[in-house]
Amino acid sequence: MKKAAAIPLNLEKPVIQRFGVAIAVILLAAGMRLWPLGALELRIPWVTFYPAVMASALFGGLTSGLLSTLLTVIVVLFWSPTDLPFIDDSGDVLGMIVFSVNGTLISMMSGAMHRARKRANIAKIQAEAANQAKSVFLANMSHELRTPLNAILGFTNLLRKDRSTSADQVKKLTIVANSGESLLNLINNVLDISKIEAGHMVREDENISLKQLLNDVHSLFSVKVGEKDLILRLEISEDLPDHITVDPGKLRQVLTNLVANAVKYTDSGKIFIRASVLEKVSSQQAILRFEIEDPGVGIPDDNIEEIFSPFVQVGDQPATEAGTGLGLAICSQFIELMGGSIGVSSNITEGSLFFFELPVLLPEGAMSSPVDQLNRVVVGLAEGQPQYRILITEDKLENRLLLQSILEPLGFEIREAFNGEEAVKQFRQWNPHLVWMDIRMPVMDGKEATKIIKASENGAKTKVLALTAHALEDERIEILDAGCDELIRKPYRDTEIYSALARHLGVTFLYEDLSPGPAPDTPCKLDGDQLAEIPPELLKNLHKASLLLDQSECQRTIELIRTQNLDLGKELHCLVEDMRYGEILIALEKVMRQ
Ligand code: ADP
Repeated sequence: MKKAAAIPLNLEKPVIQRFGVAIAVILLAAGMRLWPLGALELRIPWVTFYPAVMASALFGGLTSGLLSTLLTVIVVLFWSPTDLPFIDDSGDVLGMIVFSVNGTLISMMSGAMHRARKRANIAKIQAEAANQAKSVFLANMSHELRTPLNAILGFTNLLRKDRSTSADQVKKLTIVANSGESLLNLINNVLDISKIEAGHMVREDENISLKQLLNDVHSLFSVKVGEKDLILRLEISEDLPDHITVDPGKLRQVLTNLVANAVKYTDSGKIFIRASVLEKVSSQQAILRFEIEDPGVGIPDDNIEEIFSPFVQVGDQPATEAGTGLGLAICSQFIELMGGSIGVSSNITEGSLFFFELPVLLPEGAMSSPVDQLNRVVVGLAEGQPQYRILITEDKLENRLLLQSILEPLGFEIREAFNGEEAVKQFRQWNPHLVWMDIRMPVMDGKEATKIIKASENGAKTKVLALTAHALEDERIEILDAGCDELIRKPYRDTEIYSALARHLGVTFLYEDLSPGPAPDTPCKLDGDQLAEIPPELLKNLHKASLLLDQSECQRTIELIRTQNLDLGKELHCLVEDMRYGEILIALEKVMRQ
């Protein structure tokens, strides 16, 4: 574990320096007594030395102030630059005493000020060191937490996709996966805020499909929305560009946080996610506007200013979903980092509208991450490719196993190494196309091993991809400087692994489409207002088919409804799939009675 830097606490000025200050100031004052004050023939020797004593005390503190007071007395008594008698009568003696007392008081006051400033400086240095130590601690802690989560989430997802897993097991595994994701989210939030505070957060722009990202966010909440009496609508303006250059991780996190809040603080009604073009600056640049609107509890006027500050929570938190008060602080910092601005208008009777404006670039080229697509899974390697040799370097058995389980069934030739030294040995003997490299390992770490591999004859041709739960930007730079071609953070999704292989080796995969339609246990909700807009004869048909439990007739009618209202069609389809005819009938009868 790294230690925080030692704290330099010696803020004392050397005595010699103070002495110098005192002598210089007093000589200056004595010189002034010669000219011009001396020329005035004033008989007020002590008064003319006050500014000198004050300056010396203010600059040098107690010792310097006392020294200059003493020097003044000596100069005045024993060195007479003018002919004026300085100690002639009792008035002069009194003047000297008053001067000495005042000089001492001034010096003591200045000494106290110096001590207070020194204490504040020490506190500041200690706080900075503590903050640095906190960042290092959080980075380490996040590493320790993310590493096991990688195995938990990875294996859960593998099991969920396994064809031999029963529907009931999938349901339970989904609960495990969701809980793991929530935990990961929490860790990421705490880490993000500390990264922001430590100035470690940077932009990582990529070319992406904005519509896909919005759809992903929309579908992420479909189950959550179904658990309440809520409907989530995604409204995309017609001119919204699809391909944009943006930091997708941060944009996704902002949208997810805002939608999660809207769902959390709303019991029933419609939540809107809107995306539109605010301004087309040029053919390569645009400013987009995103809105998340909910009819929920709203935010009282008094609190609206504070909600973007870290750890601020206002009003009552829903008991089941108490948050951390970090979400909005992270959103606003992310948007600021991406050059945009975020705001909210809200009141407790109508709900809340969170909006943000974001400048984006409009690239001409193709998008990255071709493998990152919903609705299809990788099932193997396309024909006509070399037999890829892949070396997995990882000290933790479970993480080695996970990567092996993701890659081996697809047809990659796999070997394993338990530390950097072993990886270098395997590399020399086997010459793999690509090395997955864990970073923190005993014996020899991943950075060292990468340097050796990359410096060797075949090393330049071999791709080394770091897999790490490290969290801070500095470490990312160190890892890339060591020669790694890319860094993928744990916990990773299998699609990230496939995408990286496609990018670096040009691997082409075989896909299988996931069956369309909702998962068996997805709760669906019917929107009465939308049903009312469907032609009555279609509603009557659906009513009749539902009464007769005629699934195929229901689906035929729903296909027609789908052409008029896609979302409603999907919701009806979902209910029919689940054989929830009762709910369809209740909703239809309500509308048909109106
Ligand atoms: P939390 O984890 O508490 O949700 P956030 O930073 O996301 O933290 O939000 C801060 C506070 O702002 C919340 O505690 C809540 O009081 C308020 N808030 C955020 N979004 C909404 C919303 N859509 N409706 C009502 N209140 C909200």
